[in-house]
Amino acid sequence: MNYPDTRLFIANQWQDAADGRTLPVVNPATGTEIGRLSHAGIADLDRALLAARQGFDTWRNTPAAERARLMRRAAALLRERAPGIAAIITREQGKPLAEAKHETSMAAEMIEWFADEALRVYGRIVPSRVPGAQQLVLKVPAGPVAAFTPWNFPINQATRKIAAALAAGCSIILKAAEETPAAAAALFQAFADAGVPPGVIGLVYGNPAQISAHLIAHPAIRLVSFTGSTPVGKQLAALAGRHMKRVTMELGGHAPVIVADDADIDLAIRSAGAAKFRNAGQVCIAPTRFLVHDSIRTDFASALSAHARSLRLGDGLASDTQMGPLANPRRLAAMAQLTEDAVRRGASIETGGERLGTAGNFWTPTVLTGVPQDARLLNEEPFGPIATIQGFATLEEAIAEANRLPYGLAAYAYTRSLKHAHQLTQHVQAGMLWINQPAAAWPELPFGGVKDSGYGSDGGPEALEAHLDTRLVSVMNV
Ligand code: NAD
Repeated sequence: MNYPDTRLFIANQWQDAADGRTLPVVNPATGTEIGRLSHAGIADLDRALLAARQGFDTWRNTPAAERARLMRRAAALLRERAPGIAAIITREQGKPLAEAKHETSMAAEMIEWFADEALRVYGRIVPSRVPGAQQLVLKVPAGPVAAFTPWNFPINQATRKIAAALAAGCSIILKAAEETPAAAAALFQAFADAGVPPGVIGLVYGNPAQISAHLIAHPAIRLVSFTGSTPVGKQLAALAGRHMKRVTMELGGHAPVIVADDADIDLAIRSAGAAKFRNAGQVCIAPTRFLVHDSIRTDFASALSAHARSLRLGDGLASDTQMGPLANPRRLAAMAQLTEDAVRRGASIETGGERLGTAGNFWTPTVLTGVPQDARLLNEEPFGPIATIQGFATLEEAIAEANRLPYGLAAYAYTRSLKHAHQLTQHVQAGMLWINQPAAAWPELPFGGVKDSGYGSDGGPEALEAHLDTRLVSVMNV
């Protein structure tokens, strides 16, 4: 199947940018251009905004059961089309085909869960202090959403934004990632084919800063939802604040993995090791800083390095590939700089630490030990296939190191002790903590961080609630 070009989706029409501008899409496994996408200008954004306003009027007046029915149909279409969509994801983003298929079916799962949740938007009646009055608390859709999603999970990140908005009765304009446009387009096609009315969903691409500045400031937009890096999230939250728009911010992380002396080491290697290198480490909740009790640190480093060495790298379309390329040359440069900085400051490379080949963005799965605390790698989110291993003597020390950074998205721990588990639950500063298991980001669970990792949730009932206004209506019987 050929990789499709991507156009803008406005008022249920695929269309070119008014000025005809396009951008290239590059396959990260080969470095070659595989397609083009339309680059929206202000005139295109204004058409999308007008459509979103009209779409909101239609959608908020569509009964929840009907909204849910259309959403379920879109999910069914996604499942049917998963093999083709997965091949698109792999071509534009690089991840192995099996991961791309899993991402697509998780997206369908997400839409189905939010479709069901649409039926459970309840208000309440508050007993009045005055005879004859009935006080209603209503939950009403807040309005058109402007959402921005990154390239690491091209379909899943977009789905989280769209499913919650649609379930709540909001229309949405999505600026998905310019690097991975066709997967999001396939998602929009599924919603359109399912019968979602014009204007309810809009898809634009272009200059991210120009689009976010225009959409967030526009009076039609009532909510802003962003997934991406912390620096960009801070800019967009500030802009939204200036225009009094509510925001959900799902930002970067630097997830600690605390491995206590009583941990099941095999389990920790199997589950955290697999999670570390999934999607070549380009996952906001990827384990990054392994904090391992001093008594098992050396054995743990050998086992994690052996796991890293065992991974087969290659084009994600090949059936035996376990790790694909990094999604863009920026990440490759970042891996080289972070590794070089750590080694210069005294770190040891246990395995990896270099680019593989010269075509495509392949970086060898890397394990570093002896990384000093002031190295960039222990302070900046690596967002790639690099793990660091540090030792600790007491759990308090490990928790302090876990909490040292301004990030607070995901954290992991391995221990057989209930006391340790309790201590971790109380003291680790993270929006999500998984103990003795890898992350499982099911749609019914909250998904979000604390501190510089953002606020709000991209999952669970909290994600739906974020799209609702609370309205009090008190009716006096006269
Ligand atoms: P980046 O910050 O340049 O871009 C991240 C995403 O934000 C991209 O999709 C981009 O199109 C978008 N973006 C950038 N500037 C924007 C703006 N002014 N308005 C609206 N959208 C904007 O970073 P990058 O080099 O593409 O990715 C690397 C970093 O991004 C990582 O270090 C990681 O922190 C972060 N990231 C996080 C996630 C996540 O799931 N939280 C996903 C991808 C990237």
